[in-house]
Formats: sequence, C-alpha cells, structure tokens
Amino acid sequence: MKVVKSVAGMKALARQWKRDGKRIGFVPTMGYLHDGHLSLVRESKARADVTVVSIFVNPTQFGPNEDFKKYPRDLEKDSAYLKKAGVDCLFYPDAAEIYPPGYRTSVEVEGLQDRLCGRSRPGHFRGVATIVLKLFDIVAPDAAFFGAKDAQQVLIIKRMAADLDLDVEIVTCPIVREPDGLAMSSRNAYLGPEGRKAALALSMSLRWAEKAVGAGERDAGRLVAGIRSILEAEPLARIDYIEAVDPATLEPVAEIRGEVLVALAVFFGSTRLIDNVRLTA
Ligand code: AMP
Repeated sequence: MKVVKSVAGMKALARQWKRDGKRIGFVPTMGYLHDGHLSLVRESKARADVTVVSIFVNPTQFGPNEDFKKYPRDLEKDSAYLKKAGVDCLFYPDAAEIYPPGYRTSVEVEGLQDRLCGRSRPGHFRGVATIVLKLFDIVAPDAAFFGAKDAQQVLIIKRMAADLDLDVEIVTCPIVREPDGLAMSSRNAYLGPEGRKAALALSMSLRWAEKAVGAGERDAGRLVAGIRSILEAEPLARIDYIEAVDPATLEPVAEIRGEVLVALAVFFGSTRLIDNVRLTA
C-alpha cells in the first residue's frame, strides 16, 4: 500500500492510474477506522480497480467547542488495517497541505446544510462539502463511497456532485452496527461502560419506530414522540434532535407516506452520537 502525504504526490498517482485506464474508488474518512469504514472499502474494491482511502481530521468541519483536538487518532493501527484490507493507497495529508496560508474558498450547499445536524453544528457541512470537493479534485475518483449513517452528509455530497457536474459516482453504503445494534462510530470510543450501555437507546428507539410504522402508525408527530419517550427513559441521554423528514429535501413531514428518513442526534455526556433509519409506508 502506498502512503501519500502531499497533494502533488496524490495527483500524480491518480494521473498515472488514469493513464493506465484504471477506475479509481475513493473512501474519505477521519480515521480511527472500524468495520463501518471497512464496508466502504470492500464496496470500493468490488466496483473499482484501485482504492484510495483518505484519513484527514478536517478542522473546518468542527465547531469551536467541538472535539477536533481530542478526536481519536491511531495512524499505525489504521494503516495496518487498510493494508490488510487490500487498499492501494492511503492519502494522509496534514492540515497545512490542505489549507495553506491565505486559503479563502468554501462550498455551501444551501438549505440542505442548515437542517438536522446543521442546526446544532453551524458551518459543519460547509466544512464537509469543501473538504470533499478538494479531495475529489486531488484523488480524481470515478466512484466515492459514503455511509448511510451520515445520511445528511451523503445527501449534501450527492447534491454538490450533481450541481457542480462532478464526474464521480456517489455510492451510499448501509449502516454497519455492533451486534447489539449500536451504529459503529469512531466517537463510540469516548463512551465509558455506562455511556456505552445507555447509547443502545438510539438503535432501540429507531427499531421501535420501524415496528410502529410496520404496525400502521402514519402520524410523524406520534412517531417522534414515541422515540423521544424511549430516549428520555435513559437518564444519560440528552436529546439534540429527533426528526422525521423527506429524505430528498430534509423537510419535516407530518405523515409517514412513501419514504421517510427518521434521524436523531443525542448527547451522552459530551459525546454526540447520530443514527437514522429509512422507513417506507
Ligand atoms: P468518518 O471517519 O466518521 O468521517 O466516516 C467516514 C465514512 O465512513 C463516512 O462516509 C461515514 O458515513 C462512514 N461510516 C462511519 N460509520 C459508519 C457505519 N457505522 N456504517 C457505515 N458507514 C459508516
């Protein structure tokens, strides 16, 4: 596996691959890898000739009081993991390489960026869209792989790719969960044993919602209230938001009809976790 740190080096490698007629698959990450990330790598390997994984904890997508500094990092373990998975290239730039002095440009995906997580994390999706566009330009992927766990993120990236006529296919991969249901996340590492137990309320509440819709519930307000009461029964949980929205626009829906995205964000201490489910009625 090649490890590339410079933008110029990554661009040169991508150009060479293109000349050789290779289809490039790309998995952008912030590292501290788990099986959720690995599922994206597997999908990329199945659909592309070469796979690039980037590890970059992007400072511009963190708010001033968020966990940028303490975000978990373990490059050695991550690169061993990627090597074993058969990844062709790890792109691991540092912040000064990506945002040199004088950097001024950013991308806004208006409307979509302000809903759900965007409301409690202002500027977050501007940071995400900008870094992903830059990485697309550097890595020149034919296909890029994102997890459905970050449902709003993948929607925003798809919108950006369509709006800016990017020549990249955006592939959404299903949420990978721990055996007990907790969605895998690098941030789960922050949870102590009590928090870890409490965090199960997330997937439990969404499973309840799925069953409720299966049993005929069509009122979004009642559905959200039911999720809220499950989460409120967990003393360590502090709800950021719970919403039932149109998966294309992220606008709240009143009724569960067609496809609906139920998304939530909940704090356990200072750890903020997200989860979601798509329901069809
Ligand atoms: P991150 O390193 O958390 O920024 O995530 C990098 C990519 O992995 C994003 O596309 C995430 O949506 C995806 N991802 C993270 N956790 C999971 C998971 N549990 N299942 C599927 N994809 C995931």
